[in-house]
Amino acid sequence: MTEPRDVIIIGSGPTGYTAAIYAARAALQPLVFEGSVTAGGALINTTEVENFPGFRDGVMGPDLMADMRAQAERFGAELVTDDVVEVDLDDDVKTVRTATATYTARTVILATGSAYKKLGLPREEELSGRGISWCATCDGFFFRDKAIAVVGGGDSAIEEATFLTRFGQKVYLLHRRDGLRASKIMRERAMADPKLEIVRNVEIDEILGEKAVEGVVLRDTVTAETRQLDVSGLFIAIGHEPRSDLFRGQVDIDESGYVRVAHPTTATSREGVFAAGDLVDHRYRQAITAAGTGAAAALDTEQHLATLG
Ligand code: FAD
Repeated sequence: MTEPRDVIIIGSGPTGYTAAIYAARAALQPLVFEGSVTAGGALINTTEVENFPGFRDGVMGPDLMADMRAQAERFGAELVTDDVVEVDLDDDVKTVRTATATYTARTVILATGSAYKKLGLPREEELSGRGISWCATCDGFFFRDKAIAVVGGGDSAIEEATFLTRFGQKVYLLHRRDGLRASKIMRERAMADPKLEIVRNVEIDEILGEKAVEGVVLRDTVTAETRQLDVSGLFIAIGHEPRSDLFRGQVDIDESGYVRVAHPTTATSREGVFAAGDLVDHRYRQAITAAGTGAAAALDTEQHLATLG
């Protein structure tokens, strides 16, 4: 049997690639599993990224990820565009399996990110980055003086909607029920905001627009009547699904599905296993914070390996 590697990284977004750059530069020769369908992470599906430092004029998401990938490769990271289907993290030597092969390592960094829940409507994918967004902090700036709709009824939907009133000429919060799930303080804040209108008992039937979002067709969940709402931006804030299923029973996972770490480190409940990025973070969820914690995970790994000798 071959010797276990120093580190395996599972995931290829800003977290995984940054961890790979740091680990490779520390001569740990990381093996990175990128995933087969969404290699490169969430930014592969977006257009312009304007808030990643170092790019004065912004950068296209896929270009940023291609450069991070190339930078990791330049320092000797080994990249495998395949899905990890099973892990065994119990022992000192950890096992990671794809559909066709088994790999071992003394440490593992979990960086599989988190998926945004989708509405499941026909034009949703096509218009992503063309009016449809899952992140107000990332994209709010593109909708100055425009009408914007936010879908959702929880705290994060209200937070997104309230934040977007800084840019939008009008923001509609679309909720399918009468009562909002959000906390009292958030509801009060929303209701006091003159630019924010809460539209209750509605679901989106259709997203309108050929090349960019031009509006939505709303269906009243009580009367079934439909009407058109003209908006240029549609922010979907109906929740997140951390990709942690693979790690259940192996590391501690919180009630929302995020991997728990011993902040401020990236150590999970299992020795030698570290986790970072959107798989852990339900608060910031930014490329730069993902990259930052990816770097931290590699540094934690390096320190842990040093204790093993
Ligand atoms: P991800 O980027 O989600 O990467 C994880 C990757 O790991 C997956 O994509 C997959 O390839 C891989 N993976 C998952 N499971 C497995 C497995 N079993 N085996 C192997 N590989 C696996 N943030 C900003 O700061 N600025 C922006 O402008 C911005 N715009 C955004 C636009 C969109 C449309 C979206 C969806 C997000 C945007 N974000 C933006 C948020 C940012 O993309 C995320 O915070 C960041 O990508 C999280 O990085 P991550 O590496 O933790 O996870």
